[in-house]
Amino acid sequence: MKNIIKPGEQQVKFDLPVLLLLIFLPSCASEFNIEVDLYIVIGLNSISQNESCPSSMNYLFPPPSVPTLPVKGTDMLYPVHRIYCVGRNYAAHAREMGHDPDREPPFFFQKNPDTIVLSGGTFPYPDKSENVHYEMELVVALGKGGKDISVVSALEHVFGYAAGLDMTRRDLQGAAKKMGRPWEVGKAFEYSAPCGEITPASNSGHPSSGRLWIEVNGEVRQDSNIDQMIWNVPETISYLSGVFTLREGDLIYTGTPAGVGAINRGDQMNGYVEGIGEISISVV
Ligand code: MN
Repeated sequence: MKNIIKPGEQQVKFDLPVLLLLIFLPSCASEFNIEVDLYIVIGLNSISQNESCPSSMNYLFPPPSVPTLPVKGTDMLYPVHRIYCVGRNYAAHAREMGHDPDREPPFFFQKNPDTIVLSGGTFPYPDKSENVHYEMELVVALGKGGKDISVVSALEHVFGYAAGLDMTRRDLQGAAKKMGRPWEVGKAFEYSAPCGEITPASNSGHPSSGRLWIEVNGEVRQDSNIDQMIWNVPETISYLSGVFTLREGDLIYTGTPAGVGAINRGDQMNGYVEGIGEISISVV
């Protein structure tokens, strides 16, 4: 049998009876319709699990392209796997949202990777909301995955950092909160995760402090420092790796400081993280 398995992948072996069935049964399909279907499905599943035959795969429709972010100073693209977001990671923001940061620790939610908008792009004002907010955040881009990562080794997993916006349909999020429902309608809608280019940590270092601010139409709306995070970057990575298996390509939006507010069509948002980068998005 031709070896089509890449190094390190688990090899799937068909034993002889299964191979014979796969070859023989289609020729007597009229008598054994059900059995033919069953064995062909088993065979295809076994092949697809080791992803060793992409050329033989017939997608029903074109698979989506991988969302990517540019890497500053290079022509390389960073392929995005997942987007994790930290909720209420700045005490002043937790308070402005009506929560006590001493009683409720930060927590996590996710956005879909295909909601990324590159800096310089546009944010179409979303449907079903009349109160859409900016949330300016430091974004961590992982270069290495892991499970149960310790706080002291967490920064070894960081590839770089970016400036990002966690756009939020505040009215829908508020309604979901009241009913104890999930936040996706408020957080994970299309275009909800604008992100600037990634600055490699090899250039910026791993900042534990630095001004973070956003201007809307030239007026400063949020102005804080990343040293105000309740959980810093290593603590966030360590905790998150205990509840999910992290991998390279994962982004972490690390939470927003006080001063969140509404935007309208025609607004220009310019956000900055000192020593890291910026994000420029116009609302259309
Ligand atoms: Mn946020």
